[in-house]
Amino acid sequence: MRRGKTRGGEFIDFASCFLHESPANMHILDRTKKQDLSMRQRKIEIAMGVLLLLGAWFASVQGAKLVSNLKNQNTPVVLIDPGHGGEDPGVIGIDNIAEKDINLKIACLLKERLLGNGLGVVMTREKDIGLYQENERNHKVQDMQNRCKVIAEHKPDCTISIHQNSYPDASVYGPQVFYYTDSPEGKTLAAILQKTLNTQLKIEKPRVEKGNSSYYLLKRSEGVTVIVECGFLSNAKEAGLLTEENYQQQVAAAICAGVMEYLR
Ligand SMILES: [Zn+2]
Repeated sequence: MRRGKTRGGEFIDFASCFLHESPANMHILDRTKKQDLSMRQRKIEIAMGVLLLLGAWFASVQGAKLVSNLKNQNTPVVLIDPGHGGEDPGVIGIDNIAEKDINLKIACLLKERLLGNGLGVVMTREKDIGLYQENERNHKVQDMQNRCKVIAEHKPDCTISIHQNSYPDASVYGPQVFYYTDSPEGKTLAAILQKTLNTQLKIEKPRVEKGNSSYYLLKRSEGVTVIVECGFLSNAKEAGLLTEENYQQQVAAAICAGVMEYLR
C-alpha cells in the first residue's frame, strides 16, 4: 500500500524511444519509397502503440505485485493508543477505578499478543503519562495533537485506541467500537473488532459498531483509526471484570484476533 513503488517508468521510456525514432536518410528517398516507408512507419507506430499499452498494463500488474510482495516482506505495524494518562484519568468508574489504568493494562497485553503474532507495534504511551509538556498550557489539546503526530510519523497499517465507557444508566454494558463516519476501511475494521469482542467475550446483549465524526482522534488522525471502548466502568459487573487480569487478557485476545483478521 504505502510502501510500494511502481516500476512503470522503465517500460514507458523504453517504448517511447522506438516511437519517436525516424529514418535518418528520409530526404533522399523517392516519393513512392517515401509513401511506402511512411506506411511502414505508421504500421510500426501502431504496433509500438499496442506494445506501449501492453507495457503499461504489464507495468501496472508488476506494480501491484511489487506492492503486495513488499507488504508480505515488511511487517505490518499496528499503533496502540492507551487513552488518557497522567493528569487525565478518563472515566472514574465504580470503586474509583480510573479508566487510564485499565486502558494501559489492556493495551500492554494487546501489544504482547500482536508481537507474538509477528506484527510490529507502536505505543503512544507505556506508562502513566500524558503526551504533553508540564510547563505548557492546555494539556488536553496538546495531548490529542501529539497522539495524532505519533500516528502521522509511524503511518501504521491501523491504529487501535483503547478506552473504557461510562453511562448514567448503570445497567448498560458491553464493548463498542467507533470508527470515523467517512472511513469505509475504519468501518470494516470496527465491524471485525466488534464481532470478535462480542463473540469471544460472550456478550449477551451485543452492541454494534458505530460511526462518529466528532471524536478528535477519529477526525484528525491519518490512516485507519478505531476507538475500542472495552466496556462500561459504570456497570458493576463489567467494571469488576475489567479490573481482573484474566478478563483483560480475554479483551486483548479478542482485539488481537480482530486485527489479525483485518490485516489478512
Ligand atoms: Zn476514554
